[in-house]
Amino acid sequence: MTIKLRLKSVINTIREAEKEFARPPGAVQCLAVSKTHSHFAIRDAFEAGQRDFGENYLQEALEKQQALADLDIVWHFIGPIQSNKTQAIASHFDWVHSVDRLKIAERLSAQRPDHLPDLNLLIQVNIDAEDSKSGVLPDALLSLAQQIVSLPNLKLRGLMAIPKAQSDFDKARQTFLRVQQCQSALNDKGFALDTLSIGMSNDFRAAIAAGSTMVRIGTAIFGPRET
Ligand SMILES: *Cc1c(COP(=O)(O)O)cnc(C)c1O
Repeated sequence: MTIKLRLKSVINTIREAEKEFARPPGAVQCLAVSKTHSHFAIRDAFEAGQRDFGENYLQEALEKQQALADLDIVWHFIGPIQSNKTQAIASHFDWVHSVDRLKIAERLSAQRPDHLPDLNLLIQVNIDAEDSKSGVLPDALLSLAQQIVSLPNLKLRGLMAIPKAQSDFDKARQTFLRVQQCQSALNDKGFALDTLSIGMSNDFRAAIAAGSTMVRIGTAIFGPRET
């Protein structure tokens, strides 16, 4: 299948899941995760109507952005962030999904260029408390969110999580619901978070059932990644 057809099929599945799980029509946005795929693949998806693209590796992303400078793409950085990369991330992206410590948020805030709008920020939550995974632990989330929300040039929009792969739909939904509850708890404390970035190719219907507003889809749109 071509990228255009796969993208249409993913969007269709998202719209069907919105109906099935009583979500408002259009509540769930598709972020196309294009890491390891060429700028030609991104252009194909853009021609089929996709506007938001997610990349994990800075250097790779910058090269594609140059090749695609003629397109009005919304770029999301979704990979782990090292301090020495924050300047370029703050300058070349519209969204960052993977902030999990104050130091990174402070650098993005200080380095966001004046001529650009606020950088949209999501805090990554380590919802399964896995040693190997990035993300703030749920216990430390409130304190981090309180510190980040006061930083200039950033707009804290919500949470992102990458739970353990889980083939059972109900178990996946339960885990995603815990992320959704972290977000609700923050909103109960006065935050105005509107974006929940959960769900990937293999589990996005369960994420939509649990309240996702942004699913991050790579393989189901672009096919298998080259490693
Ligand atoms: C690669 C990646 C995705 C996409 O994964 P698929 O299973 O290919 O849909 C989503 N989110 C993050 C953070 C990723 O690194």
